[in-house]
Amino acid sequence: MAHRVFKDKPSKFFCDDVTEFISKTGEPEKHPDLYTGRIDSNEEYEILRHIIIDGRKRPNADMAPCPMCSPNRFLEGDLVYLRNIKVAAVIGRCCAVHAAQAERQYKIEERKFYEETYLLEAFKFLASKRDTILAGRSVAEQVLKAYRTFRRDMTDLQARLRTIKERGNARLVLYEILRDEDSEKESDYYGPAGFRGRGDSSAESRDIDFGFLDGTTALLKNYQPVIELNDIDRNISFLNFKGDEEDAMNLIAAMTDAERRATVASLQLADSKYEKFSKRVQDCLDFFAPENIERLNKFGTHPLNHQPFKASISRGQRRRVVHFKEGRVSCSIILSENLYEFDYAWEMVPFKQG
Ligand SMILES: [Zn+2]
Repeated sequence: MAHRVFKDKPSKFFCDDVTEFISKTGEPEKHPDLYTGRIDSNEEYEILRHIIIDGRKRPNADMAPCPMCSPNRFLEGDLVYLRNIKVAAVIGRCCAVHAAQAERQYKIEERKFYEETYLLEAFKFLASKRDTILAGRSVAEQVLKAYRTFRRDMTDLQARLRTIKERGNARLVLYEILRDEDSEKESDYYGPAGFRGRGDSSAESRDIDFGFLDGTTALLKNYQPVIELNDIDRNISFLNFKGDEEDAMNLIAAMTDAERRATVASLQLADSKYEKFSKRVQDCLDFFAPENIERLNKFGTHPLNHQPFKASISRGQRRRVVHFKEGRVSCSIILSENLYEFDYAWEMVPFKQG
């Protein structure tokens, strides 16, 4: 049967045509351009595509013939280019002497293609990422200042709330002892609902639940939003790339395999670090949000709280001020309204490892 002669590696268009044909018919041996004659198993080849054949589509529901060994041998094979005999064929993964080497080369090519395509897309977003980082700097600095003021002035409170976060799943709860069997003293008894024994069960208590703390980032021992942002900046700006798509193509083409790989890794690292940065900044701000401050104040000023404190919030023009007071210690944290106007959007190529 006549087949097509390929002086050079077949195009992607040709490969698409073959894979589409096979996905419809399940019969690579019927494609007019492919070579179906006998091929020496020692022949060198280059993999163009991995091929999976749906055996149910074949007229006899059998397996496909492999030109390198015997008929009806495979359903999973490769579309390959055999440069020495100038043909394309679909072979099984059963027989070829050079299969491992061809597969290795294919993986390298596939990865290179993925990395080049990724970088070309990713370079389009570099300018917008730089803008986001630039605008984010003031946000990071203000959030850092708010966090540090709280940590410095309300050290004990911050540590206590951190313990609640770590040991109590961030739930603000006070316990009311209702009846102590040791003293046999009857106290206010509201019925069984919500009662549970504590410790040695000598006492019955009631939970007073104020809800979960928001914004536990503000309770970290060492939160560093500015350093986080600088890290992201370094991960994208080492390229120092400014230019159009053609400049990008030239730069990418000039990269060594190692450089290309490192660049992809660095840009993807920037994406995941930015996600963390952005979540933490918003979370830290949630700590100082009216709802959380009100919750903290209810908890702190409840008569059963033996370490009482107050929390409040006041609004001025273009800013809000959060106050904490515990005994003689107090602090004021100023949050400018522009913190709440920052656009966290980060344009990026979706992650997909090739
Ligand atoms: Zn074979």
